[in-house]
Amino acid sequence: MRHSPDTDARLERPPPARPPIIDAHTHVVPADVANARGRRRQADLWFRRLYRDDRRTLATADDLRRGMRRSGVQVSVAFGFAWRDPGMCRANNDYVLDAARAAGGRIVPFCVAPPGDLDFAAAELQRCRALGAVGVGELFPDGQGWNLADRSGVTAFVNLVRDLGLILSLHTSEPLGHAYPGKDGTTPAALWPLLEAAEGAVPIILAHWGGGLAFYELMPEVHQLTRNVFYDSSASHLLYRPGIYRQMQALAPGRVLFGSDYPLVRQSRALRLARSAGLPDDALADLLGGNAARAGLGVP
Ligand SMILES: [Zn+2]
Repeated sequence: MRHSPDTDARLERPPPARPPIIDAHTHVVPADVANARGRRRQADLWFRRLYRDDRRTLATADDLRRGMRRSGVQVSVAFGFAWRDPGMCRANNDYVLDAARAAGGRIVPFCVAPPGDLDFAAAELQRCRALGAVGVGELFPDGQGWNLADRSGVTAFVNLVRDLGLILSLHTSEPLGHAYPGKDGTTPAALWPLLEAAEGAVPIILAHWGGGLAFYELMPEVHQLTRNVFYDSSASHLLYRPGIYRQMQALAPGRVLFGSDYPLVRQSRALRLARSAGLPDDALADLLGGNAARAGLGVP
């Protein structure tokens, strides 16, 4: 059979380059935390609330790498648990940084610190930055006792993050709807002082689609302060109907990130849900990795 010149050209043309699949939201803890969580439950109130049930999985970096192989996720942003205790933050940060080094760029390390403890946070963020941390988070304001209404404290912390060139990832919650273990007071209204302090100069990833903040981006003065705000899809299936992917794409084009919240959900399942949300091909590619790569979360 003879090909027309047109067909030949099509056959020779390489397929369009697809950005890598990047999961912007995974948690890993050292094996001793994953296997013996009892002691940590005593030490951290929100860890106790979230992991009271032994069926709620914790994962090590090895588990994450296995999950990535199985699902086809090429890069994962990884963080520990947002401990309130500085020593536990530090130990978890060391673990994440080691895991990132071992993964040769496929794990992008973020670090945690209690943001209200400014002296410790300054030293720890600086230390982690020097060891390769790309961001700070997923911070957990209620769990870590961080009062977002304290404008001077919030400004000092945001300046620290900006001066170190880090990306900030934050747990958020919806102001209404059903209760669940991680639901806290980090609602769009509570986030506002943080957005004002950041003045659009710090890349901020709001987890769990940002608790509804994106709707208010339709107000010009809100949009003015959210141009550097990204929204990740972590735990989407527990919170929203699948239509959320299209709505968020419309509200914040270029700023929606695929995030699983692994090990709360397997990456393969989170990917399946994102792919079946009915997004056009280009928007899906942006969600699954293009936007994250542009935000600095890809392989360096
Ligand atoms: Zn979260």
